[in-house]
Amino acid sequence: MAPTHVLRCCQRGLSWIPVVFIALVVCWSYYAYVVELCIFTIPSRAEQIFYLIFFHLSFIMFVWSYWKTIFTKPANPSKEFCLPKAEKECYEKEARPESQQEILWRVATSLPLYTRTGTGGIRYCDRCQVIKPDRCHHCSACDTCVLKMDHHCPWVNNCVGFSNYKFFILFLAYSLAYCLFIAATVLQYFIKFWTLCRRKSAENCPKNELDGTHAKFHVLFLFFVAAMFCISILSLFSYHLWLVGKNRSTIEAFRAPVFRSGSDKNGFSLGFRKNIAQVFGDQKKYWLLPVFTSQGDGLTFPTRLVNADAEQAAVTLHQEPNKSTADVPAGPFSDSQNHLLGDEQRGHNMEDSLADGALESGDHTPFGLTAETCTISMDSES
Ligand SMILES: [Zn+2]
Ligand SMILES: [Zn+2]
Repeated sequence: MAPTHVLRCCQRGLSWIPVVFIALVVCWSYYAYVVELCIFTIPSRAEQIFYLIFFHLSFIMFVWSYWKTIFTKPANPSKEFCLPKAEKECYEKEARPESQQEILWRVATSLPLYTRTGTGGIRYCDRCQVIKPDRCHHCSACDTCVLKMDHHCPWVNNCVGFSNYKFFILFLAYSLAYCLFIAATVLQYFIKFWTLCRRKSAENCPKNELDGTHAKFHVLFLFFVAAMFCISILSLFSYHLWLVGKNRSTIEAFRAPVFRSGSDKNGFSLGFRKNIAQVFGDQKKYWLLPVFTSQGDGLTFPTRLVNADAEQAAVTLHQEPNKSTADVPAGPFSDSQNHLLGDEQRGHNMEDSLADGALESGDHTPFGLTAETCTISMDSES
C-alpha cells in the first residue's frame, strides 16, 4: 500500500473524531436525562412522562437532521461544466493564462454563468478540471468542487453546501432546542442538588430524590454541558439565520461574489421571503423537516439582475422548484444570455490562479474547541 494512500486513510479516519465525540456526548446526554434524571430522580409520574415525550421529540429531530447533514453527499458541478475533450486538450497545452481564458470564454458561452473571478475571468477549477458554476467553490478537505459551498464543517465531517444547507440549519435549530429543553428541565434539580451540596452537615441533608451520587454527578454535568452548548450554538444559529435572510453563504459573507458589474455582496438577495424560500422551499409544511426542499438545481441561481435581465427571468421561470441536482438538465442557455459575460472582457483574460486558502471562523465552545471551525478552502480569484 502506497504511503500516500495510508496517509489519506489515516486522515479520513481522524476526520471522524469530532463526529464521534459529538455522538458520545449525545449518547451520554440521553442516558443521563432518561435514566438518571427521569427514571431515578423525578418522583412524579406525570412529570416523567411529560419530560420524556418532549425530550424524545427534540432528540429524534436533532439526530435526524444531524444524520442528514453528515451523510448527504455534497452536490458537484454537472458534466456540462467540464471542458469538451478538444478544448480540454488545448487548455492543457496552453501555458499562458490569457490563452487558457480564451478557451474558457469559448466554452462558457453555452453555460449559465453570472459570476467571475476577481479579475473578470471565468472561474475554473484546475483540480477538478471544471468550470465553476455560480456560488460553487473547491473544498480542499473534500477535494472536490461543491455547489453553493458554504463551508467545510469538521463537526459533521462534511461540506455544507447546496445539497445539505437546509439540514445544517435544522441541525443547529434542533440541537439548540434539545440543549434548551434539557437545561430548562434540569435546572430545578440542579439547584436542589447545588443547595444540598452547600450544606456541610449530613444531618441537614434530607433524604430526597437527589441523594444518589450517580444522579448528582449526571444532573450537574447535564446542566453544565447543555447550557454551554446552548450559548455556542445560539451564536452560530443566529449567524446562519442572518445569512439565510440575506441569501449569502459564509464564503460570500467573507468575500462578495463578483458579477459583470463588479462585486456585489447582495447579488443573490431576492428579498427576505424569497431568500428564505431559496433554502427552505415554498411549502411551509416542509420547513421544519430535514427533507430536501431547497429551490433550484444548485448550478444556477436567480440574482438581483433578474429584474433587469429578461433572459434570466425567463430562465428562472423555467426552473422547477424543489428539483434535485440529480435531474439537472443540460441547461442549454442561449448565447444571448451571455451578454452578461461582456464581450469587451473577452480579450482581457486574467489569471485564474487557484491557490487553496484556509478561512476559519469559529465560536468557542465550552470545551475550548471551536463550535464551528469553518475550514473554507476556496480558490483565490483575484
Ligand atoms: Zn474543484
Ligand atoms: Zn468539504
